[in-house]
Amino acid sequence: MATAGNVIKCKAAVAWEPNKPLVMEEIEVAPPKANEVRIKIVATGVCHTDLYHLFESMHKDGFPAVLGHEGAGIVESVGPGVTEFKTGDKVIPLFISQCRECRFCKSPKTNQCEKGWAARHYDAMSVEDSRFTCKGKKVLQFMGTSTFSEYTVVNQMAVAKIDPAAPLDKVCLLGCGISTGYGAAVNTAKVEPDSTCAVFGLGAVGLAAVMGCKAAGAKRIIAVDINPEKAEKAKVFGATDFVNPKDHSKPISQVLSEMTDGGVDFSLECVGNVGVMRNALESCVKGWGVSVVVGWTDLYDFAARPIQLIAGRTWKGSLFGGFKSKDGVPQMVKGYLDKKVKLDEFITHNMTLAQVNDAIELMKQGKCIRTVLSVSPQ
Ligand code: NAD
Ligand code: ZN
Repeated sequence: MATAGNVIKCKAAVAWEPNKPLVMEEIEVAPPKANEVRIKIVATGVCHTDLYHLFESMHKDGFPAVLGHEGAGIVESVGPGVTEFKTGDKVIPLFISQCRECRFCKSPKTNQCEKGWAARHYDAMSVEDSRFTCKGKKVLQFMGTSTFSEYTVVNQMAVAKIDPAAPLDKVCLLGCGISTGYGAAVNTAKVEPDSTCAVFGLGAVGLAAVMGCKAAGAKRIIAVDINPEKAEKAKVFGATDFVNPKDHSKPISQVLSEMTDGGVDFSLECVGNVGVMRNALESCVKGWGVSVVVGWTDLYDFAARPIQLIAGRTWKGSLFGGFKSKDGVPQMVKGYLDKKVKLDEFITHNMTLAQVNDAIELMKQGKCIRTVLSVSPQ
């Protein structure tokens, strides 16, 4: 390919500073170094974690950056030492790596690989690891991926090769939100057949958690959101009940406890609010209830009475749904192609990368589940 080995100039949405709209710029994307893969991004979703970086965490050293971590694309070229990928492969870049060699990758208990960029940073790759420049300045790769760009460069340990039949404008969602919510129910909570579950927060992550609870055989799935417009959508994914905490004067944990004769077997927090995390824990039944924290925040501590855990509840967290990333994502793609995993139903809006600020605004206002942005033509 004519571009291989050369710097590519392409369009990307750059976040120059916190709390400001993204700016469409021409950036330079360096060729892949050893073990790296340069990917032409075809489509990307917008996830709340992108908004968190822009509006909530506001880490000053996390800018300028190219956001986006829920994308899919095609390999443009590979660096020295890459044998697993070739030009033309369909791939999903991953925000957590799977090196298959570290003690975490070798353990079946976790997906927390210690080799990837995230071992050193939480939000963005280090300046040395980023292959982007704009106007003479290094631009960071948010979550190691940066899918709000026509091209990106990712280490091969953080790239999943997927079925060539997969439609990239749908399976991009498996790069984050849908795998996260589904896996949190199936892998982390380990939801059991005939159980009762509660899912707090019905964005794409929470709706995917509802779908995971249903796939695991839950008989009752109570969907909880302060936005009443989410009720209908939750049913599509298998929710049996919808509760809006604002409709009740009692604490939501008490409402759920009364609905379920003492509390749910499994609860999942998919909001990113420490108060809701506590509510979700307290909504679980004593003795065996399991509550999983999925929503993302690193700003506040959470609190709960020790008696909640002493009485037999378990409080866990889940990153990327507990999936080992390179193994899990192709399986989820297969699940979609076999019609066992829904994706189309999450997509409420389709736009282009140039409209990314409109997509961000929709999510801020709770008016979308997922917007898919088309980034480059296939
Ligand atoms: P979203 O903004 O689309 O959805 C959040 C939902 O929570 C909305 O429907 C909102 O109305 C609802 N909500 C807000 N306050 C609430 C409350 N007090 N009680 C009940 N519902 C409430 O977001 P999303 O893209 O679905 O992401 C959800 C969360 O998951 C975010 O915090 C995101 O950062 C996080 N996340 C975590 C991981 C992980 O690996 N752990 C991965 C992806 C996303
Ligand atoms: Zn995400």
